[in-house]
Amino acid sequence: MMEEATYEMCWDCKFCGQKKLLGLTHRFCAGCGAPQDPASRYFPPENEKVAVKDNPFVGADVSCPACKQPMSRAAKCCTNCGSPIDKGAEVARRTGVHRVHLSRSFTAVYGQAPSLFRLRCMTARAIRNVVCDGSSLADAAANAGFADQSHFTRAFAREVGTLPSRLRHRFNSLHSFKTLDHAAG
Ligand SMILES: [Zn+2]
Ligand SMILES: [Zn+2]
Repeated sequence: MMEEATYEMCWDCKFCGQKKLLGLTHRFCAGCGAPQDPASRYFPPENEKVAVKDNPFVGADVSCPACKQPMSRAAKCCTNCGSPIDKGAEVARRTGVHRVHLSRSFTAVYGQAPSLFRLRCMTARAIRNVVCDGSSLADAAANAGFADQSHFTRAFAREVGTLPSRLRHRFNSLHSFKTLDHAAG
């Protein structure tokens, strides 16, 4: 006998715009931690139904530091209690070092907070994908671990001072210029 997939009603977060959170499983928004408004639950149309096990915020990659609920890496906030899922706390737990100590030592050595360092690594990775591999911005953002393309674009603009699409354009024109130069020489 085939196992029946389980479905739940959905709700959208009116604070951060996160869509299709699960009515029963997600009591808090995975994006911003806001509590669910049960009155806003709805049945998604048949063709947009997603089985509970396939929901992006259902998983056991990390555990909530506050309530220990297993959570998907994609969740920024615990869907059971609304606490932020602090990736730093997860690293501290694994290394057995207090997270404040970890953060201070890291900052002393690298001159930047671990969260900023992580964001910069992700940005660098996405740039390489866009410029060298010709990935689309959405793919590069997802590959590098950004929540979505706009998260990547904002982080990029803050670090680099331009838009990812502009940077790609510049690299492309530089490349064709070099090719021309080479052909002429
Ligand atoms: Zn939200
Ligand atoms: Zn929790």
